[in-house]
Amino acid sequence: MDTALPAPIPARTLYQPWQRVAFLVLGGWITLIGVLTWPNREGMDRVLYTFAALYGLWWMIRGAMLGVRIDTRGIAHRSLGLTRRVDWCSVQAIGPSEQGAGPARSMLPEITTNSGTQLPLQAIATRSVTDAQAHLDALTAAHATHRAACQTCAA
Ligand SMILES: [Zn+2]
Repeated sequence: MDTALPAPIPARTLYQPWQRVAFLVLGGWITLIGVLTWPNREGMDRVLYTFAALYGLWWMIRGAMLGVRIDTRGIAHRSLGLTRRVDWCSVQAIGPSEQGAGPARSMLPEITTNSGTQLPLQAIATRSVTDAQAHLDALTAAHATHRAACQTCAA
């Protein structure tokens, strides 16, 4: 086996189905209101409802993509706003983190990059201890698989 090649890591996406459904429904609702309302409005009102429709559409599209994708290259964090990719070679560590307070408190994995940047994976934040552990296990296992075979990381 050629050790210069990165270890193949089966592609998989970590996500929470209820979260995707929630954004699809919410985004769809906003889009529907915008689309149904704007023909009956004029001027600035029409512009606003058009924006509402586009905003809802954005939520539907991003909501359907929400999650963290793992593959041979690295991690792709797909949040509502944008997708951020981190190559495995740039990952120094992956550990547990928390966000929010009280009943809104949730657990999520956090990546620390080689440059020291912290990247919390908010797209898979959860209140379930089991889910949080499963996400963390999947990420750390994939990272370990990469490291074991990567000459760049070993150097
Ligand atoms: Zn590497």
